[in-house]
Amino acid sequence: MSPGIGRVVPVRVWIDQDLCTGDGLCVDHCPEVFVQLEDGIAYVVEAGTVLNDPGSGGSLARVEQRHQQAVVQAADVCPGECIFIETDVDDPEPAAPVGARA
Ligand code: SF4
Repeated sequence: MSPGIGRVVPVRVWIDQDLCTGDGLCVDHCPEVFVQLEDGIAYVVEAGTVLNDPGSGGSLARVEQRHQQAVVQAADVCPGECIFIETDVDDPEPAAPVGARA
């Protein structure tokens, strides 16, 4: 078997808040990963923690495999085109389940 076959590729997502229109479609598609704060802008959530430091590497959230399809769909419909999905084949750490504590 080739390396990587059968392995879950870690997926991360972040939002460019400067482009977010605040329509909330991402939250409609996947409320486990996206949230709107009081400023009306969307942010990503990892393991129940809102990553609300716009533009920083700390706002790159790991996505559980069960939410990956919904995250892709959210990115497809995002009118601001500001949801960015990255795959990291070198990341050995899978996404922690929602509600898990480090
Ligand atoms: S779908 Fe895109 S533009 Fe709309 S709230 Fe979410 S991130 Fe912002």
